[in-house]
Amino acid sequence: MRLSCASERKFTFALYFLRPLGILVLEPNTTMTTKNYFEFSQNNSGGGWQIDHEAGIGVKVFVQASSPAEANDKAEAIGIYFNGVSSGRDCECCGSRWSECWESDTGVEEAPKASKVSKGDVAFVHHADGTIEKVVGTWDWMADFKKGGW
Ligand SMILES: [Zn+2]
Repeated sequence: MRLSCASERKFTFALYFLRPLGILVLEPNTTMTTKNYFEFSQNNSGGGWQIDHEAGIGVKVFVQASSPAEANDKAEAIGIYFNGVSSGRDCECCGSRWSECWESDTGVEEAPKASKVSKGDVAFVHHADGTIEKVVGTWDWMADFKKGGW
């Protein structure tokens, strides 16, 4: 049985609040191995990018994780930082370079493809098994925009 983040939360709720009341909670397969891809999209703060091919940091970084919190932790381990403006590292007017995934973020199940990344942009996908995949975007958003395909 595969659970989305949202249903996983509901299940946790059921487990901790309903079970002590004597209400039967059926446990799904205890190994909840659903790991979705969470997106970290870089803001061009100060007019420059943080790119590190070695570490796997591109204009976009996708991290496969079982929760947004885990994705944020993994992102920081990769070298992404979230307090860009308050730490003085990023331009105040442009805003922080990176933003944390929100608690409500569910990510996507399918590994990101080149067609989802803007043409020419380099993205890195950090799979849960530790492999890092480089993706060079092929999405011609300008053409789609002109076609009214948004
Ligand atoms: Zn600025």
